[in-house]
Amino acid sequence: MTQLTPWEAEVAATARGILEWHGRHRFCANCGAPTKMSDGGWRRDCAACSAHHFPRTDPVVIMLVTHGNSVLLGRNAAWPEGMYSLLAGFMEPGEPIEAAVRREVLEESGVVIGAVDYVASQPWPFPASLMIGCRAEALTREITLDPNELEDALWVTREELSVAMAGLSDKIRPARKGALAQFLLTKWLADCWE
Ligand SMILES: [Zn+2]
Repeated sequence: MTQLTPWEAEVAATARGILEWHGRHRFCANCGAPTKMSDGGWRRDCAACSAHHFPRTDPVVIMLVTHGNSVLLGRNAAWPEGMYSLLAGFMEPGEPIEAAVRREVLEESGVVIGAVDYVASQPWPFPASLMIGCRAEALTREITLDPNELEDALWVTREELSVAMAGLSDKIRPARKGALAQFLLTKWLADCWE
């Protein structure tokens, strides 16, 4: 991912997303009959009930939650040892982006969120996510983990994060290079939001 140009990454993400969608949507969600590819691969049609099905995208919020000089990081038990990243979660039907950010952070960490701003997005076609990157201000600091969602969460200062992102921390390994989490954390370290 880090070696592709932006154009190449866009083509690769499109191809990956389309192929994933075809692989998982071979039958009509309306009536259960097999569907056929049409429109050059951008649609699937059901001959039994005439429904047209289009490639789907599932929105996911990922948020840089800060409180003063600290950022909230968490880790999933399935991740490589020591890897921490920003909290994230799927949006629910009927939910504005800001509400999804507040709900996910509260559910996973118990931290209450105030202001939320959109920053940037990234397609993540594994299989169909669109990562919506936000920054959010925490109103509280106390962490109450949901053990079904996170194995650990902690507040990390700018200084500690700089050390971790240089690969020099023995406790925290940073988010994957090229991922939106890394982009948001780097912007926060530089305090650059243009
Ligand atoms: Zn059908």
